[in-house]
Amino acid sequence: MKADEDFLASDALQGRASATRDEQIAATYIGSQFESFGLRPAPNTVGYVQAVELETVQLDGKAELTLGNHVLHEGADFYISSSPGINVTGSLQTIPISGLATATIAKGAAILVQDLNDAATPGVLTPLQEAGVGLIVMQGTKAQLDRFAAFGTPRIAPRINGIAQISTPPTVVYLKPGAAALLADIDNQAPVSLTVHSTRSSRFTHNATAMLPGTDPSRGTILITAHLDHVGVGVPVDGDSIYNGANDDASGVTAVLELARAFAAGPAPRRNVLLVCFGSEELGGSGARWFREFPPVPLKDIAANLEFEMIGVPQEKVPTGTMFLSGWERSNLGPTLKEHGARLSRDPFPEQQFFRRSTTTRSHRRVWWRIRQRPVARSRRSTSRMTIYSTSTSRS
Ligand SMILES: [Zn+2]
Repeated sequence: MKADEDFLASDALQGRASATRDEQIAATYIGSQFESFGLRPAPNTVGYVQAVELETVQLDGKAELTLGNHVLHEGADFYISSSPGINVTGSLQTIPISGLATATIAKGAAILVQDLNDAATPGVLTPLQEAGVGLIVMQGTKAQLDRFAAFGTPRIAPRINGIAQISTPPTVVYLKPGAAALLADIDNQAPVSLTVHSTRSSRFTHNATAMLPGTDPSRGTILITAHLDHVGVGVPVDGDSIYNGANDDASGVTAVLELARAFAAGPAPRRNVLLVCFGSEELGGSGARWFREFPPVPLKDIAANLEFEMIGVPQEKVPTGTMFLSGWERSNLGPTLKEHGARLSRDPFPEQQFFRRSTTTRSHRRVWWRIRQRPVARSRRSTSRMTIYSTSTSRS
């Protein structure tokens, strides 16, 4: 296990950035390991590695934001934290952060979120995203602005060749203090627009996949997953610019590899076991989205999905030697595993919405919605999926 972890997190792989040759080498290594354990390629799949073509969008960092009569410039006046790479317009509507969940949002509004603070969690904007708001503007805190200054233009979720775009995510802009001060004399309903300059290119991301056939395939398939990419090379920390991703998520991939080895060496389980390491989780969950559209077995036949994420570092909020399971409350899988001796606890960070943000839900959103709309008690074989974590969101 240490050897797998050491290779995946080595400087040789340059941080396994999404849709790069480094990521492809990681996928190829994982596929070769699957093959060496005696696992088969997944049904309807050639080999152990799948190439997925992405159309990526890169911004030039020189966007302009028009607020009423003021024209602001990216970098000098504001940062873009996320963008689908298109121009957006709207009319200003101001909502305090405490009122986001209950606000009535005007059609075509550009939402100005007031009173943002460093404690705001990633889920705070969810009501706006679900309402289809195209442009969200916030007055950034110092910590947030420092982070954007260090990381530059946002990574944009790419289009995946062969898959229609389901929805367009909102553009999110953080104003610097000088620009935020201008807001005092801008009327509600004032026109707001953001103009970006983008270039598009084609790249490939890679998933690694293998199957262990069960003795009773009629019982369905257990899906075991992790993501094989990380963020690559970035701003140096103590002179080191490689973000090795030892915890996020070489640790999860190592768990998948070790489970693959153990399953292949032991007696065949009753259900099929499908093992997948996704590429480009850090680029819009692209590998998982592709898997969702082109699954090697019907999604309805997947009885459970265990996703391993960042299990390399102990988490002080759960007892020593214990992992936590996001999605615990959504099925009986967590309690049942615990009954059988698994050292698991429920998710101590519900405010982080790990379940919603995980590759697990990206790979299964359709099934997840179907299950949500159907009372679990009436479903004979309820599908369960969850992500196992042992730590919070730090990248190391
Ligand atoms: Zn991760």
